Amino acid sequence: MNRIILLEIPFEFGPTKDTIYPVVLQSDDSCVLVDCGYTGFLPRIEKALAQHGLRGELLTHVVITHHDHDHMGALAALKQRYPQVIVVAGEKEVPFIDGHSKPLRLSQAEAMQPNLPPEQQAFGLAFSKILKEVTPCPVDLAVKGGDKFNWCGGCEVIETFGHTAGHISLYLTQQRVMITGDAAAVQEGRLVLANPEYALDQKQAARSLQKLLQYGATEFLCYHGGRLGG
Ligand SMILES: [Zn+2]
Repeated sequence: MNRIILLEIPFEFGPTKDTIYPVVLQSDDSCVLVDCGYTGFLPRIEKALAQHGLRGELLTHVVITHHDHDHMGALAALKQRYPQVIVVAGEKEVPFIDGHSKPLRLSQAEAMQPNLPPEQQAFGLAFSKILKEVTPCPVDLAVKGGDKFNWCGGCEVIETFGHTAGHISLYLTQQRVMITGDAAAVQEGRLVLANPEYALDQKQAARSLQKLLQYGATEFLCYHGGRLGG
């Protein structure tokens, strides 16, 4: 039995309403969560799992597409509560996820801060604070482009650098489903770059989006925006 489950986690930050879409890849011998939400979101992940008859104890792996706080904020808490979970990430993201290196996103935010207009200064400082509050977590398994797993009948790691330096996406070869992470987002029924103004390398991010379109996927699952096609 192979099930690809799109979790739906709505939330509010102040006046902003938004939804993130982690994915679960459930097979007979594995249960893989792809990305795990903001800091403090573990209860929401657990609730979303329960809505599909799943529990954290069943998880075998968690794949982190990249080190941003909305994708790995809850990782340390998840690993602490479910120590059996194997943490998987792209090899270039590992030093940021495990805390060896200062997150490039934080360096980017701090570099932008002096240039922000006065009305955005408070937001900028709050954003940097949120980034600093992410608890790092060791990575158990570092992967690179072309690495394959038997999840859901076959899963290939695709390097989609640009949004961050070592961002990865996952392609389910048998199901022809692309899990984009932040290499693509769904907006108004089409694939776009996720927050291009935050891409650490915009040109590379644009090339990665084109790369994702070349695998013959019939469905795209985007962390921001949800499902397209299928
Ligand atoms: Zn994101």
